[in-house]
Amino acid sequence: MKLSDKFIDSKICLICGSNELYHFTAQAYDAPPISLVDITECKDCTFAWQYPLNHTEQQSIEIFETAYTDKGKTQSGYFIPEQKLKIAKLELDFISSLPTENKTLLDIGAGAGIFAEAAAENGWSVTAVDPALDINQLNNKPGINAIKGTTGQIHEGQLFDIVTLWDVIEHVTAPQELISHASKFLKKGGWLVIETGNYKSSDRVNGGKKHWIYQNDHRWYFAPSSVQYLLESSGFSEFIHSEKVLRPDWTGSVNYAGPSCSNLLKSIIKNPFSLFTHLNTHANLTKAKEWEMAGIGIFTIAARVC
Ligand SMILES: [Zn+2]
Repeated sequence: MKLSDKFIDSKICLICGSNELYHFTAQAYDAPPISLVDITECKDCTFAWQYPLNHTEQQSIEIFETAYTDKGKTQSGYFIPEQKLKIAKLELDFISSLPTENKTLLDIGAGAGIFAEAAAENGWSVTAVDPALDINQLNNKPGINAIKGTTGQIHEGQLFDIVTLWDVIEHVTAPQELISHASKFLKKGGWLVIETGNYKSSDRVNGGKKHWIYQNDHRWYFAPSSVQYLLESSGFSEFIHSEKVLRPDWTGSVNYAGPSCSNLLKSIIKNPFSLFTHLNTHANLTKAKEWEMAGIGIFTIAARVC
């Protein structure tokens, strides 16, 4: 099944084909007021998506353009340049650990260009592409080819050692097409790197329907298994997962040990009127223990063709 907006009103799971779907409404604690999103979740594989969509693709581009140019003043702390630079350094550590022939990089969805700039300062030759790119920030910076637009503007035949999609795949109308398109820019043996929120994480389960993942502009809610499935469908066969979240001050490790009974007891004592919610969360966290990489709230996967 092609994962795309074209099928977003599907009555079956867009990843595994199950018809066991669960519908609910959620609102991220850090989203603007009245940002209820309607979510469909597969009971079998726990893939989820937003339907109906709150924003059109064009509305999302305009929102991000504002966020990059006002440096996060009207948005969440994620867009603050100092924070983005700390994230960029962790992302840079990860890509630097991948074996590559040279240091050429295409950053699709480059946003404010902070990762591109950090990579260029570390010797990478970077092409940064984003329809909402803050071009004034990047113009005339050495080692950077800045494109406010799409990958269609890249010189034909130009290939890269690494193509990055940092926090992009959850926003686009057609994730599978994006993966297939991005792979066309890879040299033989090059790596496609994808980072996105982990829907199958203990963090998301614990956060309930107010978890940060439920943003207006998040169309798709992935897990390492669903992204790997899309990558395999596009011919990728070798994978490396980051063993930590590429965010400063984030804890968590790959393996989630499961919920503790003493925490359950404390929650019940603190708020006994929500007994059912506490028990339900505990049961869901017990289930999350079986998920691969459930201890990681945001995951990063690098993939290449063997
Ligand atoms: Zn499913």
